[in-house]
Amino acid sequence: MKKTKRRIALLLAGVLPAAASLAACDRAGAGDPPAELIPGEPTIGVAIFRFADTFMTAEREAISEAAEGLVNVDIVDSKNSQPKQNDIVDGFISKQYAAMAINPVDRTAAGVIIDKAKAAKVPVVFMNREPPADDMRKWDRIYYVGAKAEQSGTMEGELLADYWKSHPEADKNKDGVIQYVMLKGEPGHQDAELRTKFSVQALEDAGLQVEKLAEDTGMFDREKARAKMAAFYSAHGDKIEAVLANNDDMALGAIDALKDEGYFKYNKYMPVVGVDATAPALEALAEGTLLGTVINDAKAQGEATLSLANVLARGGTPSKENTGYDITDGKYVWIPYKKITKSNVQDAR
Ligand code: BGC
Ligand code: CA
Repeated sequence: MKKTKRRIALLLAGVLPAAASLAACDRAGAGDPPAELIPGEPTIGVAIFRFADTFMTAEREAISEAAEGLVNVDIVDSKNSQPKQNDIVDGFISKQYAAMAINPVDRTAAGVIIDKAKAAKVPVVFMNREPPADDMRKWDRIYYVGAKAEQSGTMEGELLADYWKSHPEADKNKDGVIQYVMLKGEPGHQDAELRTKFSVQALEDAGLQVEKLAEDTGMFDREKARAKMAAFYSAHGDKIEAVLANNDDMALGAIDALKDEGYFKYNKYMPVVGVDATAPALEALAEGTLLGTVINDAKAQGEATLSLANVLARGGTPSKENTGYDITDGKYVWIPYKKITKSNVQDAR
């Protein structure tokens, strides 16, 4: 953490002269450079879709750690309500915060936030819930920090494919087909739609045949997923050969339900895969219940969000030089995913 903060501070120091020369270009009429970079500790308004979400808890902690000694952050819970989040954004604007970092409740509502931000000239970094591309193009001081949803889906499917190929006993009914159930995240969330699609596609691309026994949304939530898994089990019982979950909380909910059915002892096993590599998921990997997960790097996503928002808050334009992150298409920072199983669990801690 300390290392990161030093890096941000150094980058920021490096950006000041660059901005001054850009401002000089502006006076010379050379295009659209940023205003003077503002020193001191500006305030960034941060709205999280729901504080209770496990993954976003880690990301918001990373944001506040990265902000220490650099900028002020006002981090607010949108309590899973888009109207509430819109009010929070109005509040940030009326308090004249220098920039905002927004984790939309409903990513299709980002356009409304962008319109407000643009009118008030308050730049925004969105995170974790990706606004539609058309909305992202509405203003050049709008950015997004996240991870490629399809990559996590593919990796999750590959983890299950590897297991299946090396464990012939996993095909319980010996029909050469994986009978699976899918626990989907919040419908419409890019990570729910694309992880669902690409995890199954990865199994097929690995040359495996699949049969979906059931699919339902557990809303990225452990308790909801536990109830859905219990329902899948009462409908299909031991015909289920694998569980794909769009995140770790739901994978753990599925494991809770399967434990109630006698799984994970006396050699009764079910491969369950998730995404995130949260702390409880790593424990489950180590104890041998969760088969695999994919690191969704909350710390890096939080640090990148803060880094971009900090530069924007000071009137600058985020770049590799002043943030340390590659900026794709002038707007996007993509943090890579990584596969994790029991054998490399230490890489995720
Ligand atoms: C995570 C989920 C989380 C969701 C919140 C996803 O990237 O994998 O665990 O609930 O973001 O938006
Ligand atoms: Ca089978």
